[in-house]
Amino acid sequence: MKSDSTAPLVYLVGAGPGDPGLLTLRAAEVLARADVVLHDKLVSARILDLAPPSARRMSVEELPGEHPARWPHIHDTMIDFARAGKVVVRLKGGDPLVFGRGTEEAQVLRRAGVAYEIVPGITAAIAAGAYAEIPLTHRACASAVALITGHENPTKPESSLDWDNLARFPGTLAIYMGMARLELIVRVLIEKGKPADTPAAIVQMASTGHQLTRTTTLANLDRTVRDEGLTAPAIILIGPVVSHRPQESWFESRPLYGHRVLVTRPRHQANETLRRFEELGAIAYLLPAVEVRDPPDWSPVDAAIERLHEYQWVVFTSRNGVERFIARLFERGRDLRALGSVKLAAIGPGTAAALREYHLIADVVPTTYRSEDLADALRERVVGQRVLLARADRGRDVLREELAAIAQVDQVVAYSQVDAIDADSDVFLALNRGEIGVVTFTSSNIARAVLRAFDETALGRVRDGSIRLVTISPVTSAAVREFGFEPAAEAEEYTTEGLVRAVVKLVRG
Ligand code: SAH
Repeated sequence: MKSDSTAPLVYLVGAGPGDPGLLTLRAAEVLARADVVLHDKLVSARILDLAPPSARRMSVEELPGEHPARWPHIHDTMIDFARAGKVVVRLKGGDPLVFGRGTEEAQVLRRAGVAYEIVPGITAAIAAGAYAEIPLTHRACASAVALITGHENPTKPESSLDWDNLARFPGTLAIYMGMARLELIVRVLIEKGKPADTPAAIVQMASTGHQLTRTTTLANLDRTVRDEGLTAPAIILIGPVVSHRPQESWFESRPLYGHRVLVTRPRHQANETLRRFEELGAIAYLLPAVEVRDPPDWSPVDAAIERLHEYQWVVFTSRNGVERFIARLFERGRDLRALGSVKLAAIGPGTAAALREYHLIADVVPTTYRSEDLADALRERVVGQRVLLARADRGRDVLREELAAIAQVDQVVAYSQVDAIDADSDVFLALNRGEIGVVTFTSSNIARAVLRAFDETALGRVRDGSIRLVTISPVTSAAVREFGFEPAAEAEEYTTEGLVRAVVKLVRG
């Protein structure tokens, strides 16, 4: 079948093992243009976020029918959307063709005349190898790898696996879906001649902050799983390669490995922060506490834009202020020349970086990043001049108060902040169960919004110290104290990176 390029298209995409960074560029590309994402339940929300906000997201587990009666529904859903002209991404854990039923789905699409593309993904065994540092092959002891399903009962004659041969396989056995039948699999392998003392490992939730690795021997595999409470999804690796693993892998020795950290920034600004925590090994959760919206009235901003040449200074106290103000300037049909020779001040490095994205360099950035420090840095330079402050509708009035005596200060609201906490978010369950140990706040408004949304259970956990609050600055700490709590740590430098460092220092004790 030759497909014409305008035909409906379904992408069968591997989402990789968990870490969003292990997605292929191709997968990110097609997700960005998806109208519909049909995903396995295990695919992380962080990956689904790569689809446009307007894309419809459907978990296949929520389609009607019991597994495997659900498969026809998945097939029909894909075909129906594709025929309606929608770009469909069928997102599967790991690689779509490794124990992923990708072939069945491709066949059905082919029969229906729907064009498709298969995007490979990093399969769980490969990820387990890298993140637990167990080489799947090794020049000295493993020249082959077998990917095996542990789903079949090895004692049943209809098993399609040849366990006699697998027991003699001269390389590494990587068993998927093996946790439920582990005892049986081990017994059969040993009966068929695999030495009971062959090194073996279980890697649970490879490549995520939940990763747990245990090494043992073939004979002790099942007991180790039970004693340590290990659960699916996990890969079992059997073979001499396991003894090449260091005590802890590079991933497991990261400073925040296994720690659960809550980020409360607005969704459009959270990604970088989430990635930083994940890179340090943490399990990062997102609960956007506030949302940035247009101001209720643009006319003061518009008037200021028309009169920009009358100002000597424009002062920004947040990245949002920069982005919204300049976006409005463009919307009004102006460009950066409207700024002319006006000088620019930014409260901190994040705000200065936002200016730089528009090729603008801040003339003043204080060495510490509070309104008081910005006022100090500006005081001598703005005497008798006209100053425009572009800011949020709520927040402290310090800057205007401090500068009003010496300069002519106009203040305009370039954006509104509204509380935007989703009370149904699973994050609250995780907080109440005591799963999230660290909650981070990047502004006082955010801290107030989050603490107001905490129920008694969560507040109790803050009180008893099982949830620790970490803030970006003394101003944010003051907001936390309004609720009667003491922050467990405060950033030394009032930036995201400073906050990340404060969390690392806190958990390392
Ligand atoms: N297509 C997937 C496999 C699907 S079968 C792939 O290529 O990885 C589901 C099994 O994959 C699970 O039972 C488990 O054995 C394994 N698995 C999936 N994700 C995993 C992970 N992050 N860590 C360890 N094992 C995982």
